[in-house]
Amino acid sequence: MTGSTKYIFVTGGVTSSLGKGIISASLAKLLQARGFTVSIQKLDPYINVDPGTLNPYEHGECFVTEDGAETDLDLGHYERFLDVHTSQANNVTTGRIYQNVIRKEREGAYLGKTVQVIPHITDEIKAQIQALGRRGIYDFVITEVGGTVGDIESLPYMEAIRQLKWKKGKDCLSIHLTLLPYLSTTGELKTKPTQHSVKELLSLGVQPDVLVCRTEHPMQKGMKEKIALFCNVDADAVIESRDADTIYDVPLLMQEEKLDEVVLRKLGINAFPEADLEQWKDFLRRYKNPKSEVRIGLVGKYVELKDAYKSIKEALEHAGASSEAKVHIKWVHSEKLTAKNVAKQLGGLAGILVAPGFGSRGIEGKIEAIKYARENKVPFLGICLGMQCAVIEFGRNVLGYTDANSTEMDADTTHPVIAMMEEQKGIADKGGTMRLGAYPCRLEESSLAKRVYRRRDISERHRHRYEFNNAYLSAYNKAGMWASGINPQGKLVEIVELKDHPWFIGVQFHPEYRSTVAKPHPLFIGFVQAAMKHHFVELAPKEEA
Ligand code: GLN
Repeated sequence: MTGSTKYIFVTGGVTSSLGKGIISASLAKLLQARGFTVSIQKLDPYINVDPGTLNPYEHGECFVTEDGAETDLDLGHYERFLDVHTSQANNVTTGRIYQNVIRKEREGAYLGKTVQVIPHITDEIKAQIQALGRRGIYDFVITEVGGTVGDIESLPYMEAIRQLKWKKGKDCLSIHLTLLPYLSTTGELKTKPTQHSVKELLSLGVQPDVLVCRTEHPMQKGMKEKIALFCNVDADAVIESRDADTIYDVPLLMQEEKLDEVVLRKLGINAFPEADLEQWKDFLRRYKNPKSEVRIGLVGKYVELKDAYKSIKEALEHAGASSEAKVHIKWVHSEKLTAKNVAKQLGGLAGILVAPGFGSRGIEGKIEAIKYARENKVPFLGICLGMQCAVIEFGRNVLGYTDANSTEMDADTTHPVIAMMEEQKGIADKGGTMRLGAYPCRLEESSLAKRVYRRRDISERHRHRYEFNNAYLSAYNKAGMWASGINPQGKLVEIVELKDHPWFIGVQFHPEYRSTVAKPHPLFIGFVQAAMKHHFVELAPKEEA
């Protein structure tokens, strides 16, 4: 598309958790399918500089980008839907906005002026929004504002949107996502909360152009017109967003409602190519019509909070769809796993995945799970802490280092098989002290990893402080656990495998961040296929409806 970048703002009203991220990603997918280039950005109104220091109980998974930014999990959806990498510029928090403004103030950049929310904070927000557009590669930048309209902390963002809309006119568009609650006693959907939410937005000077209404039931006749009348929007710009079976249905549901067409026309684009969603539909077909099923145990300490392992769950599902297999995840709480109950908990599973994590809570259970997978030859994938636990387990139970540990868990162990790199010692500040983002890795010619990736040089994203301690490399190798992937610069161990096991891989990196609908990740595909081989369960073909 020629001409300037168009900016689309997505705000939410009535309640949180309506799925702004999925709506933004779905709209982006539809625009991309019509041949446009799109980037999506998430603005988070909290004061943490990034979500890296946030407990998953607070905010779910922390997603990591190629350039090593620790970001909101919505960026994971953006990448999975679009198959386009995001970066630090795609996630900005109030903490980062203030940090930038305060740094400039200290540098004297404001020339003696009083530094204020308006214009300095709002200018910084506008600069962050336009930074993506200025790259000159995107036809559309979709900016999703976290939280709900009316929150005190999101006020500067709404003001920045108001100013941008005023200044850029036709190049900006605002989408507001609301909820139509269903009253079961009268069997009706209600529009009043939507009207109030739009009023709140109007009081901040922002007129929404498109309303997306989340609903459990189909909208009643005349409801779109009623909402349109009360909220100053066109009736065809009131979009019904019905609860879907899976998030991957949402782009097609939005296409049926013509969300992308309405957006394009409102932005003054009247001629556009048809959307090509063939690949997407093919994925959905495989995803929804599995020929077999496979049960994978996911061992972690946040299993009551599935969002903590969002990317892993999605990566398993992408891999399942590519093999036309339904992946059932059994969530296994690592804190409750013991030598006594491990066989009962994990028996019958086709594969065992041990999740990443920080701190010692639940690690003994992870070690038990790995011992079980190793001894019973169950396909195993260990990710980050999961890989480190595999090294500890092997040290304790095969090499006889009874107190083997990571120095993260036991600083005084006589066998620090996982330890901190020299250069990282002495850093006290928790934010940004980790090995973060993409690093290259070279795979050994004869390795299982090489067979799985079908190439020798790979690049994967990291997020950790501790590493395999190379002082133990040869002892491990002799005893049957070897380093099959190495970082060529630092000689750091990135992958361990067992020689005497059909499928056992521990990776220091996070392959889950790179799995997308268009490109399911080879490690997850390999793992799911190994699991299918270990325990094959065929499904009866679905009856035609
Ligand atoms: N806690 C471990 C480390 O810092 C592993 C981190 C992770 O699993 N992401 O090295």
